[in-house]
Amino acid sequence: MKDQLKSIYEEAKIKIERASDSAELERLFIEYLGRKSKLTNLLRNIKNLPVQERGETGNLANRIRQAIESGIRTRRQGLKAPTGHKTLIDRTLPGIMPALGHYHPLTKFIRLVESIFISMGFEVVSGPEIELAKYNFDLLNIPQDHPARDLWDTYYIKAAQGNKSFEQKEQLLLRTQTSPVQIRAMLKRQPPVRLIAPGRVFRHEATDSSHESTFYQCEGLVIDAGVKVTDLIGTLSIFLKRIFGENVKIRVRPEYYPFVEPGLDFDIRCQLCGGQGCSVCSQRGWLEILGSGLVHPVVLKNMGVDSKKFSGFAFGLGLDRLMMLSNGVKDIRLSYLGDLRFLRQF
Ligand SMILES: [Zn+2]
Repeated sequence: MKDQLKSIYEEAKIKIERASDSAELERLFIEYLGRKSKLTNLLRNIKNLPVQERGETGNLANRIRQAIESGIRTRRQGLKAPTGHKTLIDRTLPGIMPALGHYHPLTKFIRLVESIFISMGFEVVSGPEIELAKYNFDLLNIPQDHPARDLWDTYYIKAAQGNKSFEQKEQLLLRTQTSPVQIRAMLKRQPPVRLIAPGRVFRHEATDSSHESTFYQCEGLVIDAGVKVTDLIGTLSIFLKRIFGENVKIRVRPEYYPFVEPGLDFDIRCQLCGGQGCSVCSQRGWLEILGSGLVHPVVLKNMGVDSKKFSGFAFGLGLDRLMMLSNGVKDIRLSYLGDLRFLRQF
């Protein structure tokens, strides 16, 4: 009889573990614990056993009954709360593949830009995001009263009132451009210099599909003996062809920036409309891509470079805008929302 009891227990245990819903558990309850079940029958027959066997067998039968009952109860709770600790796990099922992440489209694009310039002999440098006004404006030929300071809505930083632990000696701000990195880099370098400085910049702007208060720029600086405008146009044309393809049409036109002389803007023919005019290019047929120019002699002097011996060019490009154009993204805000429907497309 003991063997019979044990085999009933083994069979019940397997069935209870495999039960997929509470209805099946109810059926198993009746099958193993009901009045007509095999177990109940065996329990009834214990009184017919020889006296010396009754106690031990009765004990075993009762323990098995309790084990089956508590097994069913535990499974029932597990089914009610599928995340509960008591849920039985089927270890034979194949596992769930964990979701794999990937780089943000902007990170990928910044790395592409870096690799293009590194292949042309540039080094990649970085600078602080909280900057001294001196580096962000003054040494870039934008003095306090210069009208060009109106070009940027700047986040200035000052110590909170009553904060005595922070003594502010110089005007601090969140950098509005990556250009101050030029000045900082040149404090530690001597020409010839070829560098780019990608990084975050901040402007107090209302956001819309093409403006954000935080975005990415990339600054470039080349200083050497006899650097000419043609070197500038050649270098940046190669860069734009590597990003937008060999057939991209490039246009260069004069523009004013206080830290260069002359200043040049680079446009590319709108690839969506082929120059016919569309909403992306504001019906102009051309898209403004980057600003550049030959470094102003005053800025060279501020960098400690002898402008009689050396000349150079500098450029600044909006990485967000370039990434959007090369990927066909229409709203800059998508980059910063963290929306997986957008990010999964890259
Ligand atoms: Zn267009």
